[in-house]
Amino acid sequence: MGPRIRTDAEKAVIKASFAARRRRQFLVLTPLLGIVIAVAGLADARSQAVLGVPAGVWAPALFAGLGGAAVYTLFNWRCPACNRYLGAQWSPMRCRGCGIPLR
Ligand SMILES: [Zn+2]
Repeated sequence: MGPRIRTDAEKAVIKASFAARRRRQFLVLTPLLGIVIAVAGLADARSQAVLGVPAGVWAPALFAGLGGAAVYTLFNWRCPACNRYLGAQWSPMRCRGCGIPLR
């Protein structure tokens, strides 16, 4: 079996699906990055408390958030056509697995 032939309509659906996945990645990762930067900037040099919140409280919450984002990315950041994980590339033009144009 050779590569599947897709119609222009199917290709358009795949591109729209990729655009939605990329938008969701942005919506999840941008606030998280902001929180990490804020925590790094606000942590008290001695106690590591952030705005009075002790490290024993904020650190587990932050790691839970990072872990959740990682799990979400594993499910979301995939090729809409072949479901291959897209890896650490922010704006892939096409899937490395099946070669489908994503944008
Ligand atoms: Zn693919």
